[in-house]
Amino acid sequence: MTQEEVSVAQPPILKHEGGFKWDGVEVLPYKEDGTIFRSVTRQILFHGIDNLPVELRYFEVGIDGHSTLERHEHAHLVVINQGSGRVLVGDQVREVSLNDVVHVPPMTWHQFRATNGEPLGFLCVVSQERDRPQRPDPDQVADLNANPTIAEFIRT
Ligand code: MN
Repeated sequence: MTQEEVSVAQPPILKHEGGFKWDGVEVLPYKEDGTIFRSVTRQILFHGIDNLPVELRYFEVGIDGHSTLERHEHAHLVVINQGSGRVLVGDQVREVSLNDVVHVPPMTWHQFRATNGEPLGFLCVVSQERDRPQRPDPDQVADLNANPTIAEFIRT
């Protein structure tokens, strides 16, 4: 086993330290390119094992922040665990709050926004092996903007 594998070994119990921080878990930038999202952090709570090849991540969108508008072949399973906000999944824009469950199917446009004057935090399960997210090209942005509900919501 390499040093890196040792360092990411999954403890049976990962204690919450309070304040949406977990014992020994680094708070990471959401993505490295800072242009298409705003005020989002990422923590990896589970890296996946052979018999459970998924990652569990905690994302926190700061007040007025948003995740990237994107789609991809892999799916997401999200549980809101802090605050509230609004979410785009496909052609639906919905209010979300504590304990709501959001399923993002494959190749479905999605974006999370902290629109309610409080952070929006959520746990997200995703396959360990996954394709890179796609951002909408100008034609796809035009298609999205043809729906007024989506046009009002999205940040690109
Ligand atoms: Mn995504």
